[in-house]
Amino acid sequence: MWRVSEACKTSGRWWPLGLLATSLAGIGVVVFRGCWHGKMSWPVRAQDHSYQVCLSCGIKRLFNEKDFRAYGPYNYDLTHLIAWNLGRVTPQSEPKPRRTA
Ligand SMILES: [Zn+2]
Repeated sequence: MWRVSEACKTSGRWWPLGLLATSLAGIGVVVFRGCWHGKMSWPVRAQDHSYQVCLSCGIKRLFNEKDFRAYGPYNYDLTHLIAWNLGRVTPQSEPKPRRTA
C-alpha cells in the first residue's frame, strides 16, 4: 500500500509558515514591469528547485524551502533562475526596463 501518511504530516506543517513568510516578504518586493507580484503561487518543485509563480504576470522566483521564503531575482525563464542559483549567473538576455518615474 501507499506510505504517504508520514510524508503528509511533515510536509503539511510548513505550508502555513511558507504562506506567512511569503506575504511578509512580499511587502519589500521590488516592482518589476509594473507588477508587484503580490500574489505568488504555492511553491512548485521542478528540477531540484522550488519556485513560485506570480499569478498576475507569470514571473518566477526561486523559493527556499528551509527559510520558507522566496529569494533571488525574478525571471520568466526558470532555467535562468536555476543557472543563477547554481553559478550566481546574471541573466543577460533579460533587458532591464527602467520604469521608475
Ligand atoms: Zn507579477
